[in-house]
Amino acid sequence: MRTPIVAANWKMNKTQAEAREYCRRFRELVPEDFPVELVLFPPFTALGAVRDGLTGSVVKWGAQNVHPEPKGAFTGEISLPMLLEYEISYVIVGHSERRDIFGETDEFIARKIWAVLEAGVRPILCVGEKLEERREGRAREVVERQLSAALEGLSPEDADRVVIAYEPVWAIGTGVPARPEDAQEMAAFIRGWLRARLGDVADGIRIQYGGSVKPGNAGDFLRLPDIDGALVGGASLDPDSFFAIAREGVP
Ligand code: PEP
Repeated sequence: MRTPIVAANWKMNKTQAEAREYCRRFRELVPEDFPVELVLFPPFTALGAVRDGLTGSVVKWGAQNVHPEPKGAFTGEISLPMLLEYEISYVIVGHSERRDIFGETDEFIARKIWAVLEAGVRPILCVGEKLEERREGRAREVVERQLSAALEGLSPEDADRVVIAYEPVWAIGTGVPARPEDAQEMAAFIRGWLRARLGDVADGIRIQYGGSVKPGNAGDFLRLPDIDGALVGGASLDPDSFFAIAREGVP
């Protein structure tokens, strides 16, 4: 059985003081035996506060982005050795905001996936089509291209450590989620793609849905057969709202 994973992408939100207060409240909410894996993704500057605030709890934390090189002349970037000092468990790779606003290509994203796995950390690979691509009937083609570029050639052992977040771009931050049946259809397609390359390992790989998930609609997604969690942006900024979403994932 796949352990559900619900993750909070804070994006460019929260100071260290705000992160500390969030962790304090979140720890009050989450029981030690909570059966859903929970991961917070603060901005880099709050990673230390989140690490200190969550150490000793069941909640994990990670980074929203990373550069594939370990060091060098890459102004404004951050490397895996730097992030490992904060004891991260996960890195988000290929978020649509990184692809669309910052111009990250499939090839660059693939380099990040390899670097993250090599460092012993788990990537959450984001894939998803834009609205016009869905309207043109090209959603699967786009997702397949993103999967091939990032994951083709990975060993089953490495692939087993990857989480995939299906996030249709038009649903992110818009308040308009995908229809659950469309999310399930794409998740089943992703699992089929994985099975064709990795065999039974595909049955253990977790696939999240992301895009305007809220406490009121989370259950519609988290109950779907091929969806094993959620990547949550806006509704994760409040600890009570994020925990209400996570509770919908309890098997
Ligand atoms: C995201 O940024 O990955 C996301 C899903 O955002 P939101 O929940 O705000 O749509």
